[in-house]
Amino acid sequence: MKFISLLGATGSIGTQTLDVIRNHSDKFRLVAISVGQNIELTRKVISEFKPELVSVKNQADYETLKGEFDSSIKFTFGNEGLVEVAVYDKADILVNAVMGSIGLFPTLQAIHAKKTIALANKETLVTAGHLVMSAAKENGVSILPVDSEHSAIFQCLQGENDKEISRLIITASGGSFRDKSREELTNVTVDQALNHPNWSMGAKITIDSATMMNKGLEVIEAHWLFNLPFEQIDVLLHRESIIHSMVEFEDTSVKAQLGTPDMRVAIQYALSYPKHLALHDGKRLNLAEIGKLHFQEMDYNRFLCLKLAFQAGKAGGSLPTVLNAANEAAVSAFLNRKISFLQIDDLVEKALEKHEIIKYPDLDAINLVDQETREYIHSLI
Ligand code: NDP
Ligand code: MG
Repeated sequence: MKFISLLGATGSIGTQTLDVIRNHSDKFRLVAISVGQNIELTRKVISEFKPELVSVKNQADYETLKGEFDSSIKFTFGNEGLVEVAVYDKADILVNAVMGSIGLFPTLQAIHAKKTIALANKETLVTAGHLVMSAAKENGVSILPVDSEHSAIFQCLQGENDKEISRLIITASGGSFRDKSREELTNVTVDQALNHPNWSMGAKITIDSATMMNKGLEVIEAHWLFNLPFEQIDVLLHRESIIHSMVEFEDTSVKAQLGTPDMRVAIQYALSYPKHLALHDGKRLNLAEIGKLHFQEMDYNRFLCLKLAFQAGKAGGSLPTVLNAANEAAVSAFLNRKISFLQIDDLVEKALEKHEIIKYPDLDAINLVDQETREYIHSLI
């Protein structure tokens, strides 16, 4: 039995993680969860899974829920609550499925508490990959990818020697606007941007997919997870999201991982690693039915965010922190209908240009840069 704590239990990845746990209740047990503000769903999750520890975002919700359930369940709230869940004594694995760089501190604390980390929260690695990976190494902790592309690469690398990798090829579906030119993006709406062709995901990552920032964040995530320079990481447009990513080796041999798009495959593999368990209601891949797969070179002028992410990743230091914080603030403003779609790229670019890089930022410096960048973006809106 593996005991699991889950940050972001009410989100897209969170609820799919619950589905995996539900369907393998002989192997996984949920012991601690954190949620944001979706209290209705939280009630259902508590009733079904009976976790021992529950953290909510706001104190008012904490007071309400505490009065509704018996005292065998401990409730807590706020950012300290996130950390309490992350380091919960009984848990073996932390699934981090919270959205945004708020996931960084709980992840670092969980690493120090020697928890295995199943990481969906890519913003954590983008904003402070150097801190996370060095803490993981020092504590002998594994960071198992949940992002589908990184799970694909991780699966391709089983039994291989990392020194023989020549290149990672990360595939990108292209998001909601893949068939539109930059000019056609001027007046697109939030609802149009939220309509992803292949995946149903949380709002922020769906917008990131439309701007291609998601792929940029994933390139930086891959750099840290697989310890490879940016020159050895390529992005390939692949509309069908059937090949989830590939690894090319020194001898030109390429391994790919394929499957119908279903995040539960990646989530479950992180939990069951190194085993592949049966996937409840999983749809098998039928290539004969699909017939054709398409591939296209990336257009870095069309997808400016991807170019900016490569630049920030290569420059390193505190610049990826700026990239991430500026993007989080800009996407939130777009979702709140305060800026247009193309202003996201524009604001991120401005924040990167303004920043003076700190070469080796520690946690305090990361937090300060994150906060200052968000303030700068707000001042421009
Ligand atoms: P969602 O927006 O669907 O879920 C986010 C979760 O975090 C919710 O449970 C939300 O709570 C909670 N949350 C948000 N803000 C706070 C806060 N301030 N304090 C405490 N809890 C908070 O996001 P996704 O599931 O789509 O994504 C989560 C992470 O996984 C992201 O980093 C994303 O990039 C990554 N990812 C997602 C994929 C997907 O398919 N969705 C694929 C690959 C990676 P509530 O709803 O209760 O307010
Ligand atoms: Mg992904």
